[in-house]
Amino acid sequence: MIFQSINPFNGNIFLEHIVLSDKQLDEKLSMSASAYKNWRKTSFEERAEKMNRVASILIEKKDELATLITSEMGKVLAESRAEIEKSAGNCRHYAQYAKKYLADEQLDTPFKSFAVYDPVGAIFAIMPWNFPFWQVLRYSAPAIMAGNVTLLKHAPNTIGCAKAIEKVFLEAGFPEGVFQELTIDIPQVEKVIASDIVQGVTLTGSEFAGSSVAAIAGKHIKKSVLELGGSDAFIVLDDADLAAAAKVATQSRMLNAGQVCISAKRFIVTEKIADEFLEIFSNNIRELIQGNPMLDGVNIGPLARLDLANKLDNQIKKGLDQGAKLIVGGGVEGCNFQPTLLDRVSPENITFREETFGPLATLIRAKNESHAIELANSHRYGLASSIWTKDRERAFKLARHIEAGSVFVNSLVRSDSRIPFGGIKKSGYGRELGGIGIREFMNMKTVVIE
Ligand code: NAP
Repeated sequence: MIFQSINPFNGNIFLEHIVLSDKQLDEKLSMSASAYKNWRKTSFEERAEKMNRVASILIEKKDELATLITSEMGKVLAESRAEIEKSAGNCRHYAQYAKKYLADEQLDTPFKSFAVYDPVGAIFAIMPWNFPFWQVLRYSAPAIMAGNVTLLKHAPNTIGCAKAIEKVFLEAGFPEGVFQELTIDIPQVEKVIASDIVQGVTLTGSEFAGSSVAAIAGKHIKKSVLELGGSDAFIVLDDADLAAAAKVATQSRMLNAGQVCISAKRFIVTEKIADEFLEIFSNNIRELIQGNPMLDGVNIGPLARLDLANKLDNQIKKGLDQGAKLIVGGGVEGCNFQPTLLDRVSPENITFREETFGPLATLIRAKNESHAIELANSHRYGLASSIWTKDRERAFKLARHIEAGSVFVNSLVRSDSRIPFGGIKKSGYGRELGGIGIREFMNMKTVVIE
């Protein structure tokens, strides 16, 4: 079986990858087990020195790696470069802070007791194509700094990126087996999860994939972390700075051609300012330049695969049948989807209820502030959200009523190495990044000394 890297802008097949046989997979699992035996004993200093080297190599090869990202999944080149920089930053962050995050904790008992953090083995990661470097470095830098090793099953359309990342780890001096890419198909996933060396499973992807993989992990008593889909609310209240809100709304929804789990998808706007906001927002969207993602000045490239463009097209057609009003865009040619804005979207509309993974913004009119919060929460997903108002104290109070893993006030929702990231409801469980992220796949061991 072969996976292909297909440039979504022009349909060219430019790389082919042979799927591992079961025998080859067994060899990789054994290599992981033997690498772990030594790696778990290394010092934070040794790990940090190599992890900083990964960061340096990423920066040295930024243009080459960014070109690979854009060729495999179509995001504009400037965004691919920024992704490499952010990935390097995450390596540096965990190189610097892993020791502090995993320091022994003395417990408050009349006898001497501690919580200490030990590595557990190999962390198996199943990753999506939308941020093919960032998603991988986001979980692997902390896992490896903690003394674990890792195995990666990347999305079939970004295997070139997976192989490039493995090469960077080897060039940085990590022993073979600490970071391994596995070119495998879905039926081979259970074999990996079941193997003794794997002690944790992390999946970033769709709700369906998360549910299937978590069921297998549960069967084999392996801990899992799930970072799944989202339909983030972007709530604009009467007193918001509308120009600032509309600028970030455009950025949030249209970055990476809208293929971002934490991009705002439902723009919930109070009735009083809805028309004014719509005018500014729609003008911003009209100004975006769509085209070849390799060219400077282009803001929106193609969607990563044809099936994704077809799915979004069907969702929009159904949404229009169900009463939404088309304000901008709506057209599609191959993978190239026009930035699109729908108004008068009701909570029953398919584009409200389902996650839409592409450049589609939906405007929902709320009667007032409490109705806006109710609409935001009336969703199966709970990844992130944002609130726009000049009253920051009020926003802080409202934030507590939002059912989501994070709330940003007057700001673009984004991931950051220093702060925890993750969702609730069908957006998954567990956290990545920050201190809590590195502690997810550790044995928090209690030691009592009498
Ligand atoms: P996807 O189809 O679920 O694929 C993600 C990964 O899961 C791929 O490697 C895929 O491999 C694998 N996979 C799919 N079904 C599987 C199964 N039954 N068993 C084992 N592995 C399976 O998702 P996608 O369309 O590539 O990515 C978009 C989704 O990811 C969106 O829902 C988005 O919101 C979510 N996402 C979430 C976050 C977050 O941090 N919360 C970040 C980025 C993306 P195959 O392609 O071989 O099936």
